[in-house]
Amino acid sequence: MTDATPNRSWHNLSADDCIHALDSRSTGLSPEDAAERLIRYGPNKLPEAKPTPLWLRFLAHFHNVLIYVLLVAAAITALLDHWLDTVVILAVVLANAIIGFIQEGRAAQAMSAIRTMLAPKAAIIRDGHRITVDGEALVPGDIVLLEAGDKVPADLRLIVSHSLSAQEAVLTGESVPVEKTIQPVAADAPLGDRRGMLFSGTIITAGQGQGLVVETGSHTEIGRISGMLSNVTHLTTPLVEQMAQFSKWLTLLVLACAVLLMAYGYFVMNYEFEHLFMIVVSLAVSAIPEGLPAVMTITLAVGVQAMARRNAIVRQLPAIETIGSVSVICTDKTGTLTRNEMVVTSVLTSQGLSAVSGEGYAPYGQIDAKDIDATGDAHKTISQLALAAALCSDADLNETGGQWTVEGDPMEGALLALSGKAGINITESRQIWRRTDAIPFDSRHRFMATLNHDHDGHAAIFVKGAPEQLLDMCALEAGNDRTQSLQRDYWERMSAEMAANGQRVLAFAMRIVPLDYTVLTHSDLKDELVLIGLTGMIDPPRPEAIAAVAECYEAGIRVKMITGDHALTAAAIGRDIGLKNTTRVLTGNDLDRLDEAAFAAAAEDCDIFARTSPEHKLKLVMALQSRGLMVAMTGDGVNDAPALKRADAGIAMGQKGSEAAKEAAKLVLADDNFATIAAAVREGRTVYDNIRKVIMWTLPTNAGEAVCVVLALMLGMALPISAIQILWINLITGITLGLALAFEPTEDQTMKRPPRPRGEAIMDGRLVWQTLVIAILFGAGIFGMTAYAHNRGYNLAMAQTLAMNALVVMEIFNLFFIRNLHSTSLTWKAIKGTKVIWTVIVIVTIAQFAITYVPFLQPIFGTEPISFIDGVIVVGVGAGVFILTELEKQIRLSLQKSTAV
Ligand code: ATP
Repeated sequence: MTDATPNRSWHNLSADDCIHALDSRSTGLSPEDAAERLIRYGPNKLPEAKPTPLWLRFLAHFHNVLIYVLLVAAAITALLDHWLDTVVILAVVLANAIIGFIQEGRAAQAMSAIRTMLAPKAAIIRDGHRITVDGEALVPGDIVLLEAGDKVPADLRLIVSHSLSAQEAVLTGESVPVEKTIQPVAADAPLGDRRGMLFSGTIITAGQGQGLVVETGSHTEIGRISGMLSNVTHLTTPLVEQMAQFSKWLTLLVLACAVLLMAYGYFVMNYEFEHLFMIVVSLAVSAIPEGLPAVMTITLAVGVQAMARRNAIVRQLPAIETIGSVSVICTDKTGTLTRNEMVVTSVLTSQGLSAVSGEGYAPYGQIDAKDIDATGDAHKTISQLALAAALCSDADLNETGGQWTVEGDPMEGALLALSGKAGINITESRQIWRRTDAIPFDSRHRFMATLNHDHDGHAAIFVKGAPEQLLDMCALEAGNDRTQSLQRDYWERMSAEMAANGQRVLAFAMRIVPLDYTVLTHSDLKDELVLIGLTGMIDPPRPEAIAAVAECYEAGIRVKMITGDHALTAAAIGRDIGLKNTTRVLTGNDLDRLDEAAFAAAAEDCDIFARTSPEHKLKLVMALQSRGLMVAMTGDGVNDAPALKRADAGIAMGQKGSEAAKEAAKLVLADDNFATIAAAVREGRTVYDNIRKVIMWTLPTNAGEAVCVVLALMLGMALPISAIQILWINLITGITLGLALAFEPTEDQTMKRPPRPRGEAIMDGRLVWQTLVIAILFGAGIFGMTAYAHNRGYNLAMAQTLAMNALVVMEIFNLFFIRNLHSTSLTWKAIKGTKVIWTVIVIVTIAQFAITYVPFLQPIFGTEPISFIDGVIVVGVGAGVFILTELEKQIRLSLQKSTAV
């Protein structure tokens, strides 16, 4: 048992008292202290709900109409003294449940492995350094850094708050965000009024702050309410549900037909009950696609795993269906199309442009003021800019083994590196110039500001942000040894030049304020700032994203860049990345001026949208959807959540994305990379194809068998395949062979086809046609084999053995036909198949040999040993059917080609 923290009303104590009570400091705990506390308090996680016991999960596989029918059949055969049939029916039912149970276990395992990939992280201060740890590693006394979009990782007492608000609906049901302050409140204040507290599981909607961890795991408010972490993952999607529904109706239909057939056989044909009963059971077994939903679920689970291997984490299973059908991908620029490894390469002051050298985030390098006279003034201005960059930043640089890395925003990391190059000691400057207040960055106002006080009685506001934004706030600029009036033209011209080269341009400004200023508001920033200068950063495109954009175009998917960056920077990156239409760039302001119709047209025609805010993203999604497109949209910030929710496939960034964005998204990219979206589309299309293949493979077998049973009964013939054999084929070989299709790799043409139309039914005309063709050929093959046996004068058992084996061989050949739905199956690659295909074929072949030739199995399955020649004929029937189906496909494909030309 782990300890709880002393039971205090944390909200009633001052922030300092809380820190004191938990024996912590504003610089955080030491790693040793944290490790010791982790043992004492336990990990910060909710106890997991007990999983459903294995035996219950096993029993659930008997909860199926067909199984009930079979169990009744087993009871009736027992009553009729057909003990052998009873045992076989029960054995097959049991084997079917075991196969289903194992498959389900694998699918569930795949899903829970995915969940651990999405475990939340927290940025904290330990020993004065900002580090990122797993949410589970938090202990009481830790100091957590918070910003908009974060999910609060534990119960926290706020110790610093800059305009922070949180949405606490999970706890209070109130969806309007609550403003948070650090002041204590009355001990008996209800949860929703505890302004100084942040509760685990709630979302920070705005602002920035720091919180002291006071309760973790099951001691948090959410832990007390829910107690357990629900572990249930529903392995279902609209498609699977549609199919399950289809199976259910088909089952009822088949059962109704079975009853009618029974009545017809008994009263019209005057068959005896025993004989009729087994025929009707065979009909039920043959016509009901009982294994289909299960195999579809496995196909989805295999797809989820394949996507995870490619860094696309499926949060909501239906995404796997929608991502494969998207026709437009709206993507962020920074970090998705580019590497998000920024380096400042130029600094512009009123005295001129300087080139900056150096690699990565190492704070070493030259600032080469080659375009300016290297006067002390120029360097003074650059130093001023570097100080602003160090103070107006939440990131930290860390060095391990000569390798410099960023904790926090890479752009701020690049600016810190610049500060280092300009000779600023970041840690020291931050200690001297303490931050008193801040206005955190928000993609809507595109700047960040801090208010800092030094030890010598100075106070200053530092601002960094988009140049257009800052130029509007400045009347003056830092000039030769003094401030001078702003030369707006100069800055605008130079900033456009830098942006046109693909640089991300950021402006810096400051203002000296009286010492008694302690609260920073937006009105402090109006008109009175002094512009210090601009920085230009490069962020190279990801080479794999260039290839992925080309792949998307080939797959008929449009790619649109929606960025907060400057139009010229966006256009330059768009060109580098290979976007088709880079001449027209619309900004958020341009979009705001359009009416609804013009907006929708612009959304479709234009490929680059710059200086947009999250609201534009939402409007763009809706406009594109209104034009019938399936939209994938990426996002990272808290304000992106509505657009992500609305998109057909909302995609959040795993690394730089906020928890709020992740929760709203259906897919999360573990590597933030555009290429991963293309890979997810490919996998999504593969899964959809495989589901179609599973359906297309299963239904004709069922239909072919059912037709044989009905025809035999109508014609007064003996069953071509006995009831027990049908049971064997459908419940054992069928599921084994069909499962192989779940593992099918991507077909060569998958990313060369256009996306499937929105709302296209999975059971389209082609699937129904194909099912019919194959079902008829299967029926012909079975009856053909029966006729052959009859001609040769074979007995019934031999005829049924031949027909049953012919059906299994046809199924195997059909597997090869179905594998290549969109191309020929007559290539070496197609015949070579996959390991899974050949493994199941070997297993099924051995099983068929066993029930045909093993003496003690022969009476059970009513089989007789087949001669070599007959065996060749059996294989020949399968090959014949394969050739005919393949011929039909070749004709169809060439017709398609000629109509396309
Ligand atoms: P994308 O939407 O492709 O990720 P982005 O990162 O440029 O592009 P935003 O994060 O919305 O989009 O940023 C918009 C603009 O705001 C940037 O171009 C930059 O000028 C400014 N900006 C971004 N981050 C900060 C920050 N931390 N502090 C100050 N200004 C910032």
